[in-house]
Amino acid sequence: MLRCKQVSKALADKKYWELPLHQRIGLRLHVGLCVICGPFNRFVMLMQDAVRHYLQHEQSNPPPENMRLPPESKERMKANLHKVEREEEAQ
Ligand SMILES: [Zn+2]
Repeated sequence: MLRCKQVSKALADKKYWELPLHQRIGLRLHVGLCVICGPFNRFVMLMQDAVRHYLQHEQSNPPPENMRLPPESKERMKANLHKVEREEEAQ
């Protein structure tokens, strides 16, 4: 059986649907039974599912051109996110 720390790290490092089937089963089993991390990690998995459904919806129904961010805005946002990640890693 996985430990809480392993489950939380796996969910933080990757979207759980990208994990191999045997790891997803282990995560679901742990999260379903654990009274310590279960409620929080179930919520994390629910949010990951919501993101996955949103991305699928967006791919099949892309927004009109005038509703999209300009490419330079996307690049600026990505650069700022990477900067925040690097600052968090440095702490
Ligand atoms: Zn746990």
